[in-house]
Amino acid sequence: MTGFEFQPEFQPGEDFAIAMDELDPLKEFRERFLFPKIEGGDCVYLCGHSLGLQPKTAAAYVEQELKDWAQLGVEGHFRAKNPWMPYHRLLAEQTAELVGAKPLEVVVMNSLTVNLHLMMVSFYLPTAGRHKVVVERGAFPSDQYAVESQIRFHGFDPATSLIELTPLPGESCLRDEDIESVIERAGNDTALILLGGLNYATGQAFDMARITRSGHARGCVVGFDLAHAAGNLHLKLHEWGPDFAVWCSYKYLNGGPGCVAGCFVHERHARSWDLPRLAGWWGHDEKSRFEMGPKFQPMSGADGWQLSNPSILSLAALRASMDIFHEASMERLRAKSVSLTSYLEFLLSRKASPKFSIITPREKERRGAQLSIRVPRNGRALCEHLTQEGILGDWREPDTFRVAPVPLYNSYRDVFRFVRRFAAVLD
Ligand SMILES: *Cc1c(COP(=O)(O)O)cnc(C)c1O
Repeated sequence: MTGFEFQPEFQPGEDFAIAMDELDPLKEFRERFLFPKIEGGDCVYLCGHSLGLQPKTAAAYVEQELKDWAQLGVEGHFRAKNPWMPYHRLLAEQTAELVGAKPLEVVVMNSLTVNLHLMMVSFYLPTAGRHKVVVERGAFPSDQYAVESQIRFHGFDPATSLIELTPLPGESCLRDEDIESVIERAGNDTALILLGGLNYATGQAFDMARITRSGHARGCVVGFDLAHAAGNLHLKLHEWGPDFAVWCSYKYLNGGPGCVAGCFVHERHARSWDLPRLAGWWGHDEKSRFEMGPKFQPMSGADGWQLSNPSILSLAALRASMDIFHEASMERLRAKSVSLTSYLEFLLSRKASPKFSIITPREKERRGAQLSIRVPRNGRALCEHLTQEGILGDWREPDTFRVAPVPLYNSYRDVFRFVRRFAAVLD
């Protein structure tokens, strides 16, 4: 039971939003986060897709490590309250739970684009007959740069090695059956299928199980960038079976700006010693790491892809948030998220006007928390105006306003307040 099974019919008034917040079984979690203030009041923060809010406990988690560093110096690696040597382990279990993986399959390390490159070093192994990469058109720029540079690195040309999945003319999102037919057509020349789990611009969530199945059936490697899916969708990576996945921890995961990122390598590759990989000492078998021997012996599982000792202060902040995720549970969060985003859609649909349209898919399986609202005229000015009032969404050129009610800390009343002002300013 998630507590969200019985949805009342949505009502348009503010009293309904207030009543829904009262009934919300996750309502206390809002109190655990720090909201930016505007004229003394909480702002309406719908920007968790860009930078999640700070848990109130983050400072204490970080201070613990600063204190141990002050009092123990280098000894903190072994004698800190949470010894730094195995510190990243403290996150393995909860990270695995968050993305539906086994602890062996996940590690927190580096930053997102770095992890994407590390994964492509191991899993993009083009040959003359099979060198293509299937991506979504309009993927996040960093992913586009990373993929194109990897193609060139192997001596191929993006003009002939890159296949971009493109929506039909006049549509914003991809159709599942079109993704599948591209994979069926091009699969035999394709080395890697690399998609966002959820497209950052449109908010479209992909059917990762289905894409993985059809990719594997054609002999392709399948990877996902989950920057906008981790902490947003209820992921089952082990079961769905992609070869790898990467994500950042500062969006829905609230780990703080530039936080250490996540990486998943499916168990089937846990002991694939013959895969090419870039090596560093933190990926070396930890039992003999400090013998400092000349020969690299990777640890099994995702741990074996680590390069460097991680930023403990950043991991500490992330732990504060992961403890909250564990308590709230992704299943309950997702249930609230489905309701909250439908409510946002409901209120917007009551203000329907040619001045805006929602480009995110309507079906709950095909989206997460975010709705992308296309505002063809003066949208940027609208977004800036709302920001000044303390209503924070995110503007993407040329015409998209992205808002995400985040189930951990947003309320129905936040959504109500947003739509009221959005509609008023639009007029
Ligand atoms: C946010 C985001 C990034 C950012 O990359 P960093 O390496 O964390 O700077 C990359 N890819 C996607 C899909 C994103 O959403």
